[in-house]
Amino acid sequence: MSAVYLPAFFVSLIDLLEDYYKFDAIPDTGHIQVHKTTVKISYPLATAYFLSFLLRIRKQVPAVKMAPSKGRSHDERFMGDASIDDLLTPEQIFTSLLFEQRSSKVIQDMRKTQNIYPVFEKRCAVLQCNSDCIEMDIAAVDTILTNSILYSKMGELICFQYLSKLSSNSDLTPQLEDYFLRGDGRNPFSQTAKEFVIEYQENRCFYCGQVLDNKNTDKKPRADHFIPWVFIKSSNIENLVYACNNCNSNKSNRLPTTSIFNNLLQRNVPKSKFWRKYPEEITKLDERIDRWIRNYYQASEQLSTGWKPDFIA
Ligand SMILES: [Zn+2]
Repeated sequence: MSAVYLPAFFVSLIDLLEDYYKFDAIPDTGHIQVHKTTVKISYPLATAYFLSFLLRIRKQVPAVKMAPSKGRSHDERFMGDASIDDLLTPEQIFTSLLFEQRSSKVIQDMRKTQNIYPVFEKRCAVLQCNSDCIEMDIAAVDTILTNSILYSKMGELICFQYLSKLSSNSDLTPQLEDYFLRGDGRNPFSQTAKEFVIEYQENRCFYCGQVLDNKNTDKKPRADHFIPWVFIKSSNIENLVYACNNCNSNKSNRLPTTSIFNNLLQRNVPKSKFWRKYPEEITKLDERIDRWIRNYYQASEQLSTGWKPDFIA
């Protein structure tokens, strides 16, 4: 197993658990079973999340190398206990994951590495790969969910360090940085949505109202996930506002106050001026807005709330 796949797998597992616990988004088809002391996750479900995590990176930063190619040298520091599997290309790993015969082997290899993630002690097996499912201790699941933002960030940081080391082309580093550290690239807003929103806001920051300016670091326009990405994990236009760099970085993973939320809700209610002007057709808008409102309140139970800008221009 290449070193990058461990943290990548772990981050995808956190996504999976969060989705399950937050949204009940995974239909009960037996892919995830919660028992008194353990949580059992099927390989197809874990694999789907793992693949989607890897493919999102590939889609955003196509030139990135995910693993050393056969016979090439690689940086020893990032390759703890290397085996022949380290020399698979991402395509080979995807293919082997897609075709059942090796899928459990790839994940089961993680079994050998008890220390699947540095935050856990060596003797603590966070998960066990059984013949038919991944089994996790419910206490470990609780710990992971309580600290999910921290663990995800750490996992992403490890992926970032590894991948930028592996991809010697230094032009890629800023792209990887955007992807992993700023979170912009993981699931970007559509270009149409971005252009429309910035114009709708008359090129002003949604939060503090100052005029956005590409040439000024503090005032640089940033596409902002109103409900932070760490919670919402999607980039729909109803959750997009433009903010100045200052507000965007200051807000970070916090949730804006209810009164700021109400401002955005006014923009977002179906049949508003905003939607009448928007050039693309959006299906099931009512449902989407309802879900977005629910997400805001769900997020307020998980994230730090009450964020507002330092000053209003
Ligand atoms: Zn601002």
